Amino acid sequence: MKKAFGDHVVLNDLNFTVNKGDRVTLIGPSGSGKTTILRLVMTLEELTDGYIYIDGEPLTHTVRDGKRVELREKHRNHIRQRIGMVFQQFNLFPNMTVMENIIEAPVHVLKMPKKQAVERGRELLAKVGLADKENAHPMELSGGQQQRVAIARALAMDPEILLLDEVTSALDPEIVGEVLEVLRAVARTTDITMLIVTHEMQFARDVSNRVLMFDSGSIVEEASPEVMFTDPQEQRTKDFLAAVL
Ligand code: ADP
Repeated sequence: MKKAFGDHVVLNDLNFTVNKGDRVTLIGPSGSGKTTILRLVMTLEELTDGYIYIDGEPLTHTVRDGKRVELREKHRNHIRQRIGMVFQQFNLFPNMTVMENIIEAPVHVLKMPKKQAVERGRELLAKVGLADKENAHPMELSGGQQQRVAIARALAMDPEILLLDEVTSALDPEIVGEVLEVLRAVARTTDITMLIVTHEMQFARDVSNRVLMFDSGSIVEEASPEVMFTDPQEQRTKDFLAAVL
């Protein structure tokens, strides 16, 4: 696949497969295209060329007789529902309570009865350690608490794929741990496929089974976390890790 913003080619000839249940961490210098990949999978950006397949199905369009044919909105939405994303800046709805944030998509998109959505919401809030905050508004919570709500909100859709985009980068250092602990528990207790962009190398090492090193929109090296963090082969990986570890 290829992604360009105007003349600026950000991802070129990129080709990789994520298997069900994989926990793949994308590492590499700032600007190498990692976040763009997550945003493309979440259909927040349009591909310039090529395809993304989810379970063998194209995410946005097919080509018939040499012409691009967009998937029907309903079909697109159906695929999109299987993917959840947590952002660096939480992106909670500020005018809604924690519970309203969590049940919004299950009720309006999945048409889940409200009572059932609230019950599930309570389970998830307990899971992220915020059982007592369902009536709070995001502004009343710390950054770490807001991010845990955002994780609960993503899980409320029962996604098969979870995209984590630098979810601790906006947090004070002493709060990072509580968010990573919640995510470690999610990784331990579910088989959700995860695509992770993070600067937290220890976290990447703990939860992922594959690490992809990016530079300038291409994969420089792929390895297991053990190999990537202790015995990288490529000079660019060595330089990058020397700078961040
Ligand atoms: P990373 O996550 O590895 O830091 P990004 O995917 O955020 O990298 O960005 C890759 C490149 O794409 C950068 O050069 C960035 O400036 C550019 N880019 C990202 N989003 C946009 C956008 N909406 N418009 C123009 N350029 C963008």
